[in-house]
Amino acid sequence: MDFQVSEEMSVRLAMIREFMDREVIPLEGEMLHGDPDTLAAGVAAAQEKVKQMGLWAPNHPVEFGGLGLSMVDHGLFAEAVGRSPLGMTVFGTQAPDAGNIEILHKWGTPEQKERWMRPLIEGEIRSCFSMTEPETAGSNPTLLATTAVRDGDEYVINGQKWFTSSADGAAFAIVMAVTDPQAPPHQRASMIIVPTDTPGFNLVRNVSVMGHTGSGHASHAEVIYQSCRVPVSNLLGPEGSGFLIAQDRLGPGRVHHCMRWLGIADRALEMMCRRANQRVIAEDGSTLADRQVIQHWAAELDAEIRGARLQTLHAAWMIDEYGTKTARDEISAIKFEVANTMLRAVDRAIQVHGALGVTDDTILSYWYRHERAARIYDGADEVHKTSLGRRVLRRFATETTG
Ligand SMILES: Cc1cc2nc3c(=O)[nH]c(=O)nc-3n(C[C@H](O)[C@H](O)[C@H](O)COP(=O)(O)OP(=O)(O)OC[C@H]3O[C@@H](n4cnc5c(N)ncnc54)[C@H](O)[C@@H]3O)c2cc1C
Repeated sequence: MDFQVSEEMSVRLAMIREFMDREVIPLEGEMLHGDPDTLAAGVAAAQEKVKQMGLWAPNHPVEFGGLGLSMVDHGLFAEAVGRSPLGMTVFGTQAPDAGNIEILHKWGTPEQKERWMRPLIEGEIRSCFSMTEPETAGSNPTLLATTAVRDGDEYVINGQKWFTSSADGAAFAIVMAVTDPQAPPHQRASMIIVPTDTPGFNLVRNVSVMGHTGSGHASHAEVIYQSCRVPVSNLLGPEGSGFLIAQDRLGPGRVHHCMRWLGIADRALEMMCRRANQRVIAEDGSTLADRQVIQHWAAELDAEIRGARLQTLHAAWMIDEYGTKTARDEISAIKFEVANTMLRAVDRAIQVHGALGVTDDTILSYWYRHERAARIYDGADEVHKTSLGRRVLRRFATETTG
């Protein structure tokens, strides 16, 4: 295995890191306690500069204006822009659009690509992904209750979803609904494109999360589909392939999340060390950095982040070389490992900052609120541990029964 970064990618990463420090991180103050319109203008100006630099939406296929990055390169990119919560949006690679673009690219008809994917890549519209339901366990989507019943040339969708992130202001949703309740569990559901101005697409509320309701891209909507009719031509991929498409969306997406989290962990460690070096805690002028407990935290985090990074790059390399299915153990392992490494880094950085750590004067409390969900979405820790653990135990099954 070879993680040698190409010269071209090294240059891009250097440009991205410099741009993040100079143009993106300074916008965070506006995000934390400023004016939403000023922030939107700042983000739009930064996006324009990214486009001029030729770095807009680099993960997308070359024929649609992206750079067609490999998983490893995309991971390195996600780490660099993950240093700020605004990074993904400024570079045109934010969730849930990035995942929707991936599945539209793989499964969409030429008409669907032209109508939905192209404007999404160009940042002209936004989208959302509508799978999770309040009344059924998201960890087991074979229990999905939302239905899409064929009526002539249309599907009629009925059901209740929530955590349809970024539905507020989105142009369309990709909805997962049961199209054949009699089929085997993993062939019951399909993905259907639903424009949000379709009658029967009812955005009930943006759900308040950790004290913040949010709006626009930064929101999580409850949506009721009520006799919502869309043409059969809005079906994405073959009928019954909802689970297959969901897997396509989730596998690589987990690597992107993990590398973004490593960007957060890196910056949290950096902030922790800077604060520890500065904060005088005794008359002799000694600082927090002189205390052994802080030195151990710095060492432990540094080692954990290095390990998590190598593990994630290895998973990305496995996907590049052998495909998502072969890399499923690696993907499951990084999903819970890296989420917990990142959360530990944020927690320790807050601790070292003392009261300042829980204020909104730094980015740390934002991450503490928003990134707790990393252990829940795209497969909760326990779900990944159960499936990986079973496979690990199976490796030795013949020994115990023999
Ligand atoms: C910030 C955020 C954004 C999201 N964005 C989207 C989105 O855009 N679109 C979308 O469709 N969904 C989205 N989701 C929903 C997410 O996919 C689900 O929350 C997730 O799949 C878990 O489903 P659930 O919440 O119904 O929890 P449940 O399935 O009810 O599980 C609850 C808990 O039970 C435990 N558990 C579950 N299964 C097992 C098991 N087999 N063994 C042991 N323990 C288990 C886990 O600890 C889990 O956290 C988002 C969620 C969050 C928090």
